[in-house]
Amino acid sequence: MPVIEIEVPDIPRKNQLELPRDKSALLIVDMQNDFAHDRGALAGESARAIVPVIAGLLAKARAAGVKVIFTQDWHHPGDPEFALWGEHAKAGSWGAEIIGELSPRPEEIVLQKPRYDAFYGTPLDHLLRSWRTEHLVITGTVANICVLHTAGSAALRWYRVVIPEDAVAALTPFDQQSALRQVTFLYRGAVTTAAGIRFT
Ligand code: ZN
Repeated sequence: MPVIEIEVPDIPRKNQLELPRDKSALLIVDMQNDFAHDRGALAGESARAIVPVIAGLLAKARAAGVKVIFTQDWHHPGDPEFALWGEHAKAGSWGAEIIGELSPRPEEIVLQKPRYDAFYGTPLDHLLRSWRTEHLVITGTVANICVLHTAGSAALRWYRVVIPEDAVAALTPFDQQSALRQVTFLYRGAVTTAAGIRFT
């Protein structure tokens, strides 16, 4: 394979970002055992590494009364995705459960999604609109797959996308940076860190 050296374009980053608590929601994408637990079918180190970062942001959102939504990748027998990735996130299985460190509270919403885009085939847009949400903070895994497709889908609906880059995981640094490039350049979203977000 030829070696291609490329420069990562400048990705604008915000050190601090203030978000109105009543117009913001925190989305935690696919932090399930199969992706983020040592014994998960498709787990990687990068997904493990973001767990404490998301836990910190989750605590901050809960303390501020910010709405929290979890997604679960969710596949039934014969799902064509299994041909691409192998079996993962089977409906009702241990692998499909949210990892213990990020357990949803009973009042928090958990959406099962059949594809990469968390808006596809779920009531996510309905929920966000009913809450008058404007800013969607997206965390989780995988950066250039489910996080990016969800970010794009959110931006196309005119939500303002916020990505705390230390709270999303990718399989490679290229994937991570290209996802952030798309979010900032194409979707005009904000990239910051989990610590940089303040709910006001
Ligand atoms: Zn899947």
